[in-house]
Amino acid sequence: MKTVSSLLDPLWYERYKRISNLNIRSSIYDVTNRCNLRCKGCFFFSSGEHHVQEETDLKKWEAFIDREKARGVNLAILIGGEPTLCMDRVEAFYKRIPSYCATNGLIKVPRDRFPDMMVGISLWGGGEDEKILRGKDTFAISSRNYEGDPYTYYLYTVTPKQVGRIEPVIKRIADVGLKVHLQLLSNDEGVDGFHWHEGELRDLRVEMDEMLERYPQTVISSKYYHEVITTGMMLGRRFGWRECPSVTESLDNRQPPVRRLIHFYRWAADLKTVHRCCTSATRDCATCKDGAAHMSWIMVNKRDHIISTRDLQNWIEVYEMFAKLYRLIPW
Ligand code: SF4
Ligand code: SF4
Repeated sequence: MKTVSSLLDPLWYERYKRISNLNIRSSIYDVTNRCNLRCKGCFFFSSGEHHVQEETDLKKWEAFIDREKARGVNLAILIGGEPTLCMDRVEAFYKRIPSYCATNGLIKVPRDRFPDMMVGISLWGGGEDEKILRGKDTFAISSRNYEGDPYTYYLYTVTPKQVGRIEPVIKRIADVGLKVHLQLLSNDEGVDGFHWHEGELRDLRVEMDEMLERYPQTVISSKYYHEVITTGMMLGRRFGWRECPSVTESLDNRQPPVRRLIHFYRWAADLKTVHRCCTSATRDCATCKDGAAHMSWIMVNKRDHIISTRDLQNWIEVYEMFAKLYRLIPW
């Protein structure tokens, strides 16, 4: 029988040991229904997930977070809407649970109040794409806010129009001393010209691999992740509802049960409603390109990667990528 230790040399085994003890239990929280942008293709607004009555009593947020901590959550992923519009709620999380704040970067998270909170800034391509999809070139503002910040990276959502043009974006990020992680646009609002075609995805995979080789200090990624996210395939299986690991536990009635994130929930800002999954409640799973869901898909399927040295190393690299994105291991 193949085992982890039989497939890895001592160096890789050390890397494996480093991540295998992390025991991550994440959940996602909509901190607010409001945002200071309205991007075309925003999964939150396009799926109507903001149609709940937002809880405004900070004490109720604190009690809720305490219950989440008691439930075993050790990584709170704060999204929205725009979490930085409600710094008190962000702080309530930060003081209780290791937290990660997803933001558009227009408002700076004050580092005197949140010295080591991980911040992920959304970026939807170069300045021109951002103007079309988000109404402004957010990079110009967010890069000023976060230049050189050791706890911040860009979450760069690559659009079909960006294929062949991602290097200048990566370079801009490198030049302001920040890191970047790549994912793909799902185009939830069907914006013309932003649908994916097979050839584009093939080209993008090559381009992403090149970026990782050329900017290893800037790009947090792995070639296996590039393969899985651009093909939607892992070990001969296709990503989709039957395979997705990032479904809220109380809504997961799939039979037979699926390998999934343990006790994962995505909570709405009323602190009562739960959403189907980590992304749009109305998205067709067959076209979902969500980066975190694909990454988690690989991570929860460790056993299936214990088949060859290369497959297991691929799994380790993706797990390391995830751990780096939350600074659970050093960059
Ligand atoms: S900044 Fe984020 S939450 Fe706000 S509209 Fe854009 S994608 Fe949606
Ligand atoms: S939309 Fe994506 S993340 Fe959500 S359940 Fe479907 S496959 Fe999973």
